[in-house]
Amino acid sequence: MLADPVERAHQKRKVRKVSVTISTDDLELPCPHCNGEKYVILNEEKAACPKCDGRGVILTALGQTLLHFIKKHS
Ligand SMILES: [Zn+2]
Repeated sequence: MLADPVERAHQKRKVRKVSVTISTDDLELPCPHCNGEKYVILNEEKAACPKCDGRGVILTALGQTLLHFIKKHS
């Protein structure tokens, strides 16, 4: 007996593999405030960039989502 087409389509969907490729460029970007330099000049002195907390990069929305996910499961 042949499986009903709807059921077969459903099974096909279940076994389909989903591959996701994420590069670090999708997760973080060079900080636009300090151009990735990690510091800014304030009153003629180097100061840690307040926008990226001296990291030189800022998380993208995807990066934040992933970070929350990892924190939730760690
Ligand atoms: Zn910065």
